[in-house]
Amino acid sequence: ESGWTGSNERTFISVKPDGVQRRLVGEIVHRFERKGFKLVGMKLLQASAEQLREHYRDLSEKPFYSSLVKYMSSGPIVVMAWQGHDVVKSARKMLGETNPADSLPGTIRGDFCVEVSRNVVHGSDSVESAQREISLWFEHHELLCWEECSQPWIY
Ligand code: ADP
Ligand code: MG
Repeated sequence: ESGWTGSNERTFISVKPDGVQRRLVGEIVHRFERKGFKLVGMKLLQASAEQLREHYRDLSEKPFYSSLVKYMSSGPIVVMAWQGHDVVKSARKMLGETNPADSLPGTIRGDFCVEVSRNVVHGSDSVESAQREISLWFEHHELLCWEECSQPWIY
């Protein structure tokens, strides 16, 4: 891995209940795969309100906190860990802005949704958040380190 800085960085991405119901899981996975990131963990689950309150604990003072927890527990979600160079920042760019109305076409939120309260996908906002969120949603053994090839610049 010498000379390949940051290639072990990981982020936490989740397809929210509206994204799962609208059959957008494959589309979202496809975008991260084509970009060149590596899938290191993925599962479909029904999140509990308790897990979601912890996941969104920094927003607990916001007026939309309880409706956010309700939305996120309204159906199955897909949780994923993606790895690669600068993946936290790149993933946020690929998602678009929090409000889909401010998201450019070409981003996931810009292409697939219209409302901030139904914005299809979550992505960690920093490396520290990513570490906290990955450990909240995944057991250690559910994250797999796999080698793609001997030349890491080929993806
Ligand atoms: P992001 O998901 O882009 O990191 P935040 O962390 O600020 O955005 O908010 C978390 C989630 O809370 C958003 O993705 C969105 O689903 C919801 N949310 C944010 N702002 C609002 C709002 N004003 N009204 C309703 N829901 C909101
Ligand atoms: Mg956030």
